[in-house]
Amino acid sequence: MTMPAEGIETAEFDVIVLGGGPVGENLAQYAMEDSDVTAAIVEGERFGGECSYWACIPSKALLRPAAVADTSAHLQGMDPGRLERDDLLARRDAWVSHYDDSGQYDWVEGAGITPVRGHGRLVGEREVEVEGEGGALGSHAPRGRRDEGASKGGTRRLRARRAVVIATGSEPVVPPPYRDAHPWGSRDATAVTEVPDRLAVIGGGVVACEAATWMAALGAHVTMLVRGSGLLAGQEPFVGEVVADSLRAKGVDVRLSTEATEVTRPAGEDTGVGRVHGGPVTLTTAGGTVEADELLVATGRRPRLGDIGLEAVGLSPEDVTAGRRPEWLHPLGDAGGEAPLTHWGKYRARVLGGGIAAEETGRPVEPVPTDVPVPQVVFTDPQLGTVGLTEQAARDAGHDVATNEVPFSGAAGGALLRDDVTGRASIVVDRADGVLLGATFVGPEAGELVHGATIAIVGTVPVHLLRHAVPSFPSASELWLRLLEGLSKELRRA
Ligand SMILES: Cc1cc2nc3c(=O)[nH]c(=O)nc-3n(C[C@H](O)[C@H](O)[C@H](O)COP(=O)(O)OP(=O)(O)OC[C@H]3O[C@@H](n4cnc5c(N)ncnc54)[C@H](O)[C@@H]3O)c2cc1C
Repeated sequence: MTMPAEGIETAEFDVIVLGGGPVGENLAQYAMEDSDVTAAIVEGERFGGECSYWACIPSKALLRPAAVADTSAHLQGMDPGRLERDDLLARRDAWVSHYDDSGQYDWVEGAGITPVRGHGRLVGEREVEVEGEGGALGSHAPRGRRDEGASKGGTRRLRARRAVVIATGSEPVVPPPYRDAHPWGSRDATAVTEVPDRLAVIGGGVVACEAATWMAALGAHVTMLVRGSGLLAGQEPFVGEVVADSLRAKGVDVRLSTEATEVTRPAGEDTGVGRVHGGPVTLTTAGGTVEADELLVATGRRPRLGDIGLEAVGLSPEDVTAGRRPEWLHPLGDAGGEAPLTHWGKYRARVLGGGIAAEETGRPVEPVPTDVPVPQVVFTDPQLGTVGLTEQAARDAGHDVATNEVPFSGAAGGALLRDDVTGRASIVVDRADGVLLGATFVGPEAGELVHGATIAIVGTVPVHLLRHAVPSFPSASELWLRLLEGLSKELRRA
C-alpha cells in the first residue's frame, strides 16, 4: 500500500473484484492460477457471500434431513425418521459456520488473494473506493476476523491495472403491498430461529417452493399464494404439477392463480433475521382472507448494482445488464443478470478468470463452446433436475423437435427409490441432427440424474450414440433407456 498526498491508502492490483461471494472468489482464483496476476476482493458483509450463509448452503442443510425422513416413511421395512427441530437448526448453523466467515477469509488469503473488508464503489475508470468494514445484518452481526493489512477500516482506494469485476450478487424484489408488513425475505427463511405456527409464502418459484418444503418440515402450517397457474413457471408443465401434489401431500395449502390485494399487519416490527416479525398478518385475496403469523415474500431477485458507483463511469444498472460496458468492467454471477445460480456464475468466472490468466502468461486461451446449457436442481421433495431447453422453448427457438416423457416408476431403479414413487422424466431432441436440446427429471434424487444430460448436450451426442451409453441395472439411470427407446420410435415414425 502507498499513502498519496490526500491521505487515502491506495493499492494497485491487476484485478479488483467487488463482492466476495462464490463467483468473485472463483474469478480471482482462476485469474491467479499459474500466473503472476494479482487480485483483491472487496467484501462488504461476509466472505462466502449470500450462497454460503443465506441461500444455497443453509437451505440444503435444512432440506436434506427432511427429504431423508420423508423417504424413510415410504420405504417398507424402515422405522420412519423423526425430525428434531433444534438438531436440524443446529445442523444449519454448523453448515453456515455460525455466520462466521473466518474460514472463507483464510481461504482467500491462503489463495494469495488480498481480502479487503468494506463496501466498494467505483469512483472512476478502474478505480474503486472502499469504505468502512461492512454492516451488521439483523441479529447476525459479522463475526469474521478482521486483522492486519488490507482489511483495515477507513477509506481505501484500489486501482485495477487490468479489470474490475462486479460480483455483487442480487437482492430480493418486494412488491408494494408487502413492503410495510415487515415480511420475511429468503435470509429470514434460511436463518430461521423462531418457527411461525402459520406461514404465508408469496410466490411459486424456486425459493418459495424450497422454503415451503423446509418450513413445513419444521412444523409450520404453510399456505402458498401463487399468482400464476402453476408452480415453477418456465419448466415443463408436468414439473409444477408433481411439485404441487407433493407439497399438498405434506400439508402445504397451495393456492394457484391467487394474489393478495391487501396486506395488513398492525403490529409488525423488525425483531431480527429469522425471528417472527411482530404480530399476525392478514392477506385479502379474491377467494377470502388468509391469516398468518409470518409472511415470506419470495417474488424474485434483481442484480445488486444500485450502490456501486456506476454513475462515476457514466453507466446505469440497465447498461450493465444489457452488456453496455467498457472492456475493463465485467459484471458476473447474479450481478450480471444471467441465470442466478451459483454454479452458473462460477462457470462464467472460471472462463473469464482462466482467460485473464492465459492472456497474462501468453498461454493459448481455451476455446469456449457457444450455447452452453444451464443446468439447475431444485431441492424440493421430489427434486427437479433440468438442463437446456424445454419443449416450448426449443420450438420458440425454431427447432423441429421430438420429445419423450416417461414416469419414474418406468424403470426398476427409479421405482426402488421409494414405495410411493412419483415423478416424470422427459427429453427434447432436435429432429434435424438427433442431438439432445434439453432434459427434465422430477422425482427422487432427480438432481443426480441431470448431469448425464448436461454432458450429452455439451458434447452434442446424437440419440443413436446415446443408446450405447449403458445404464447400470437397477439404477434410476435406466430412465435414460425408457426415454431413448420411446424417442427412437418417434424419430423412426417421422
Ligand atoms: C434461498 C436461496 C437458495 C438458493 N439455492 C441455490 C442452490 O441450491 N444452488 C444454486 O446454484 N443457487 C442457489 N441460489 C442462488 C445463489 O445463492 C446465487 O446464484 C449465488 O449466491 C450468486 O453468487 P454471487 O457470488 O454472484 O453473489 P453472492 O453470493 O450474493 O455474493 C455477493 C457478495 O457481494 C457482496 N457485495 C455486494 N455489494 C458489495 C459492494 N458494493 N462492496 C463489497 N461487497 C459487496 C455481498 O456482501 C456478497 O457477499 C439460491 C438463492 C437463494 C436466495
